[in-house]
Amino acid sequence: MTNTAPIDLRSDTVTRPDEQMSAAMAAAEVGDDVLDHDPTMRALEERAAQLLGTTAALWVPSGTMGNLIALMLHLKRGDRFLAPRGSHVLHHELGSAAWLAGGMPDPLEWSAGPGRPTAEAVRAQANVAVGYDKLNTTLLCLENTHNSAGGTVIPLHEHAQLAAAARDSGLRVHLDGARVWNASVALGVPPAALTVGVDTVQACLSKGLGAPVGSVVAGSDDFVREARRVRKMLGGGVRQGGVLAAAGLVALDRIDALAEDHENARALAAGLAEIGWEVTRPQTNIVLAAVPDVRLTLERLDVAGVRAVPMSGQVRFVTHRDVSTADIKEALHRISEARI
Ligand SMILES: *Cc1c(COP(=O)(O)O)cnc(C)c1O
Repeated sequence: MTNTAPIDLRSDTVTRPDEQMSAAMAAAEVGDDVLDHDPTMRALEERAAQLLGTTAALWVPSGTMGNLIALMLHLKRGDRFLAPRGSHVLHHELGSAAWLAGGMPDPLEWSAGPGRPTAEAVRAQANVAVGYDKLNTTLLCLENTHNSAGGTVIPLHEHAQLAAAARDSGLRVHLDGARVWNASVALGVPPAALTVGVDTVQACLSKGLGAPVGSVVAGSDDFVREARRVRKMLGGGVRQGGVLAAAGLVALDRIDALAEDHENARALAAGLAEIGWEVTRPQTNIVLAAVPDVRLTLERLDVAGVRAVPMSGQVRFVTHRDVSTADIKEALHRISEARI
């Protein structure tokens, strides 16, 4: 009998805690993280800081809150910040960069490739303000990998040029590294190599790494001290957070396994191309497909038992640890049979 359960490629956020992770959560040593720091939270934050190459890190309930805290601490009301076109902070955080952090967004074009702005553009757009009546540009917000561009990776030398352009222009740098783990695996470098020249970084535990909830926002000791206060202000202080941090610690052991998701994304893209789809060549775990009618295609995929989402006017498939290589084969079989 064939298994007809839908194959869920909507996002790597659909991953569920497996037995090992659930057991770690159940056994977690806990305290009161708001009162005096939960021990498992502390362990997770130290581990995350070490991996990200920062002196400190703070667990936060979501990537959106991690980015928001960083932007609130970097920006004064009315400060302009630069971010690549289509980035999460510009389009998928409900305007909190402006509403709550007071920033004036200025998008950077993808002149270096999908999702990748150039250092020249950073210099040019940072230095627009001359004269007392102009905006202050104070922050560059990078995104690696870039989600809406299709999980694209900023190569190390480009990252260094972008960070140098920001520094020369007097900008601070925040990295939205929701999938920085994927970027590190794709480039074959430690995550810390991707935060060089960056003041703060946000990284998700709840995507490809499979934790049910949580992100970290990391930077200097001073930044994290203030970030803890802002997290509390936003309602993100949790009590026996060790239960969640335990899942995060298991998640951080699974960075290398992301290579399998990347392999599966390549197989999915190759299979779709073979049956005539127009697809991007994935660098990580995201495949974008250009189709004439996104809504219709998504409906037909759904009927065929393959789930995806619309992204950037295309269909987005995301591979993750809860879909196997066999599931990818089966998804391709269903798409081919249904002649989508
Ligand atoms: C998912 C994501 C976030 C936000 O994470 P949530 O935990 O969903 O709030 C931020 N940036 C990027 C690039 C993302 O893909």
